[in-house]
Amino acid sequence: MQKKQLTKLKTFLSKPRNLLIVTHWSPDGDAMGSSLGLYNFLKKLQHKVTVITPNDYPPFLNWLPGNKNVRIFSQEPALCKKITAKAELIFCLDFNSLKRIDKLGDEVAASKAPKVIVDHHLQPDGFAHYLYHDVKSSSTAELIYSLICEMGLKKLMNADIANCLYTGIMTDTGSFRFPSATSKTHRTAADLIDAGANNSEAYNRIFDTNSADRVKLLGFCLGEKLKIFPEYRTGLISLSGDEMQQFNYRKGDTEGFVNYALSVSGIRFAVFFAERDEIIKCSFRSKGSFDVNAFARKHFEGGGHANASGGMSKRTLDQTIAYFISLLPSYSKKLNK
Ligand code: 5GP
Ligand code: MN
Repeated sequence: MQKKQLTKLKTFLSKPRNLLIVTHWSPDGDAMGSSLGLYNFLKKLQHKVTVITPNDYPPFLNWLPGNKNVRIFSQEPALCKKITAKAELIFCLDFNSLKRIDKLGDEVAASKAPKVIVDHHLQPDGFAHYLYHDVKSSSTAELIYSLICEMGLKKLMNADIANCLYTGIMTDTGSFRFPSATSKTHRTAADLIDAGANNSEAYNRIFDTNSADRVKLLGFCLGEKLKIFPEYRTGLISLSGDEMQQFNYRKGDTEGFVNYALSVSGIRFAVFFAERDEIIKCSFRSKGSFDVNAFARKHFEGGGHANASGGMSKRTLDQTIAYFISLLPSYSKKLNK
């Protein structure tokens, strides 16, 4: 963000305001970690702040400080509309196109309040008055930390803010193992631990609170559902709604499954398809130069990052799989590069 913009934002926040933070559909660890980190920070600045998510998020994220003050648009639309209409400034975190927040997007678009995008996804839409955006950043949580520092307000950091931001960084970097985890990311994580983030507890709360059903569902995926296409260096896992029901599927249960397909030696491109109410939810991951953002945008109405993207399909699950397989030959060169 330009210095002038940053000063303007800081001046705006120098007296108590009515603020709103919104994040993307199906919030993940970075969406909730960055939103609640910013929430706790703005609370310390004496603002009135609300976090609104378009829909619910997995229970492994509901221990984050401030969680009980989050409003879910799909559950309380009237209240959320009222809050959005009253906001003097709207922070849009971890997304950059209003399509990503579903019906909440109409309310945000209708609001006259200036919008602040803080995000690390590719190709931001032009709806923001303030843009704090870096595709090289590991996570939106890391960007929130930088924004707080750039505002000269690092002294306000406390354990609540630090735990939220640490969790956002940890989840979006696959526990600090993706190429996006730079030395700056590690320095930020170290600062957050110094400020009171409990790294081991955050890890346990996120990754060691599986239900037995979820672990068995993973076993089923790996044992029965993983398909490898060696000639395209591609791995695929798919789950039908019935299969998910057999394991008492709960929101968030399939989070990260796609990475197991990518963990097979030689695999460059991994996809996970899951049957949802009316659509097939798609997750794409890659290693190296294969651009899954471009792939998801072109074929599955989605997007994200070059190595991690999502999308959807309105075909049936079988048709989606067949369509996906039919696309592979045209990517053979790129996948084998
Ligand atoms: P996931 O596969 O974990 O759902 O998403 C991977 C990445 O792609 C995340 O950064 C997420 O924000 C982004 N993403 C997921 N689904 C969509 C989508 O439908 N559209 C866009 N633009 N990005 C998505
Ligand atoms: Mn993110």
